[in-house]
Amino acid sequence: MAGYNVRSGKADDFIDHQEILDTLEYADAHKNDIKLIEEILHKARPVWKGKLLDCKGLDHREASLLLACEDPGINKRIVELAKEIKRAFYGNRIVLFAPLYLSNYCVNGCLYCPYHMKNKTIPRKKLTQEEIRAEVIALQDMGHKRLAIEAGEDPVNNPIEYILDSIRTIYSVHHKNGDIRRVNVNIAATTVDEYRMLKDAGIGTYILFQETYHREGYETLHPTGPKSDYSWHTEAMDRAMEAGIDDVGLGVLFGLDKYRYEFAGLLMHAEHLEAVHGVGPHTISFPRVKPADDIDPDEFDNGISDEIFEKIIACARIAVPYTGMIISTRESEEVRRMALNMGISQISGGSRTSVGGYTSKERPHDTEQFDVSDRRSLDEVVGWLIRDGFIPSFCTACYRAGRTGDRFMSLCKSGQIQNCCHPNALMTLEEYLEDYASPETKIVGTAMIERELLSIPDEKVREMTREHLAEIKAGRRDFRF
Ligand code: SAM
Repeated sequence: MAGYNVRSGKADDFIDHQEILDTLEYADAHKNDIKLIEEILHKARPVWKGKLLDCKGLDHREASLLLACEDPGINKRIVELAKEIKRAFYGNRIVLFAPLYLSNYCVNGCLYCPYHMKNKTIPRKKLTQEEIRAEVIALQDMGHKRLAIEAGEDPVNNPIEYILDSIRTIYSVHHKNGDIRRVNVNIAATTVDEYRMLKDAGIGTYILFQETYHREGYETLHPTGPKSDYSWHTEAMDRAMEAGIDDVGLGVLFGLDKYRYEFAGLLMHAEHLEAVHGVGPHTISFPRVKPADDIDPDEFDNGISDEIFEKIIACARIAVPYTGMIISTRESEEVRRMALNMGISQISGGSRTSVGGYTSKERPHDTEQFDVSDRRSLDEVVGWLIRDGFIPSFCTACYRAGRTGDRFMSLCKSGQIQNCCHPNALMTLEEYLEDYASPETKIVGTAMIERELLSIPDEKVREMTREHLAEIKAGRRDFRF
């Protein structure tokens, strides 16, 4: 047995089962050690070091200890610290995106996913390039600038060439003032060569959910198909990074296995990427299993309450302060509100999880991947965010300006976010208000932009932003810092 090795390229070494068990034992043994937990909280707080805002984060053992702690006073402080870190690095901006389902053909046997090969009741559908154009126009007409494409794994129906053609099509559509400026990709684990092709196609983040870090559980949940190979799946991010993709997105599908095990595994994965590639994950997503065609979440024994979910999000915010955190419309408005305060920095809005869903007037359910809880339109979500004090941001500047991987992390630490991300958020919100907003959203949004302009610290940047906002009103688009 090799044992735990954060730098190893082998899944079983960097997600070492025994190390996770030891971590959970350590967390249980010390969960009432208030002095130790206070020291950890103290160490994790954001501090200015000269001009750099520094936050140390926590390793998987420390963060697992916070997660295990049941002391109400400490739990309150965990939430407060998560909120403080969120404010320090992300301010009140929330980035918006939408998933675009290209194809639900799939050769895998994932027990929680309605696209599994044996499901004979779900109609199979794969969009043509013409249909993708139509979907993208519908998404642009809502106001979206950032997409995450989703597809089942099927080398015959959805080969890499199809995914690459689809990305080209998406970037090529410019309807009215519409523009998709960042395409993130959520497709099955693949080879270094294919990741290189995705990189060359100009993708944003490569997203792949681990589903579960527990090898045995993973193998039961993925009985057949290429995804059944735990190591191939778990080592995928290393291949993606080897191919030059700087921004990768992790995630666990909560509800499949024990959440404390998953949480430790997730952080060990992040530590591994940082140790080997010099940069941790760009994002972490927080999905929970939802009902779907042929899928009943109650069949999985490990469902977690909203309270536990909240705590997981707060502890993750403290552990990985520079990592974007994502929550989708799988969750309700209430849960999303809680999550936004606790550390989430990106949400989807107006999503349809069916193949071809955006061009249908009514929400189609037949090819849907999972039941959406938050069914509000993008405009309703934008208005809601503004009224709750969040700036909806359609910004895609970083990767277009080459600020990926560790260059993005440096921006985070530099204290320049208020002079960069903040004006970018305001300018992209202004574009949304001009082109797509309802009258009510436009009123609250315009007032927000006026207010928030004042919190751009650098006078020159503030003035330039003012000028660009006037230019946007006059019809010009796509300014960025
Ligand atoms: N096919 C690719 C793969 O296997 O990684 C990626 C795309 S899949 C469309 C996106 C994600 O949806 C999966 O990774 C899984 O975590 C999630 N998912 C599948 N079934 C779900 C369900 N019933 N409820 C919630 N999320 C689900």
